[in-house]
Amino acid sequence: MSCSRLQLTLAILKPDVTARPHIVKEIKSMILRKKFYFVESKKMKLAQSEIETFYKEHEGKFFHNRLVNFMNSGSIWAHILAREDCIKEWRKLMGPTKVLKTVFEEPNSIRGKFGLTDTRNCTHGSDSEETAKREIKLFFPEFDEEKWRANDEDYFINKK
Ligand code: UDP
Repeated sequence: MSCSRLQLTLAILKPDVTARPHIVKEIKSMILRKKFYFVESKKMKLAQSEIETFYKEHEGKFFHNRLVNFMNSGSIWAHILAREDCIKEWRKLMGPTKVLKTVFEEPNSIRGKFGLTDTRNCTHGSDSEETAKREIKLFFPEFDEEKWRANDEDYFINKK
């Protein structure tokens, strides 16, 4: 029987992370230690147009060009993560957006440990269920959430 205790989110490891493979490994260990499951993963290089679509809400902001150029500078890891309260817990593990705030307030978060600047800040995480659905569809169009809930989700829950 399927159940719906696990929430999904889209998590991205940005090009500053993929350029440092030992940090990719460390971040993936942090994710597993916090009891997230990796549902789907892919390493990819986004096209400029895909980056612009993904960050459309930030168009016109002072950091938009810098952000698009940075995301265009290398490959990323895209993951679908699952957990109870996944969206909130992944954003908590990421830490705040701004590097100074992160270093002083959340030094053990991913951004607190490995963030370089406000732009080169390691990770992305969906900010609501609606956004997560849209972003998962964008990065994993082949992913069938209903099928996953009917099969693998039980396997993940029972493994706990
Ligand atoms: N960003 C930036 N400068 C800023 C704010 C944001 O370069 O002053 C970049 C940063 O890489 C951030 C992304 O834009 O992760 C998206 O911004 P958002 O406010 O959505 O932050 P997030 O949800 O990633 O913490």
